[in-house]
Amino acid sequence: MKALSIKQPWASLIAHGIKDIENRTWKTSYRGRIYIHASGKPSFRNLTLNLSQDQMDALILYSHYNPNYSIPLDTRDKTYPYAAIIGEVDIVDCVINHLSIWAEKTEMPAGVYMGEKPIYNWVLANAVLYDEPILNVKGKLSLWDYIDPNFECGYCDNLVNEYPEFEYGDYGKVCANCFSGLTG
Ligand SMILES: [Zn+2]
Repeated sequence: MKALSIKQPWASLIAHGIKDIENRTWKTSYRGRIYIHASGKPSFRNLTLNLSQDQMDALILYSHYNPNYSIPLDTRDKTYPYAAIIGEVDIVDCVINHLSIWAEKTEMPAGVYMGEKPIYNWVLANAVLYDEPILNVKGKLSLWDYIDPNFECGYCDNLVNEYPEFEYGDYGKVCANCFSGLTG
């Protein structure tokens, strides 16, 4: 499955389902599920996240309904996983000037870029945060393929170590044998 390396704290905010946009200077036509990979280094070194009031409100609201979640204002916080795959999310769209509070906006006077590079808002949905992150995974640029070294087949429960991965409906990842049986 594809993976995207994202710096903390944004990776965690996405995996928690709080942040629904990933801002990039390049657009993607990929749609579907990806791994959320937290990069080895945070996106900033100072202590305070520079969040808008709307974004602060979203964090406070989330932590209100999820008391176990602490608002991540300090990237030195040891609760952040780094160099790890921490969850999954769907890429469902790629636009500019999305209305989300997490979308970086692009100024377009009279609909012309005027030499300015647009910021693409990758629209994300259905985030899942893993109970246990997959540790010690090096990040890469762009969308990259993460090959899960071991997974349990969703149909026969065998531990599988193979590639490519197959997915079958509610069974999720299945081994090649089961996949050919289920689809044959
Ligand atoms: Zn199987």
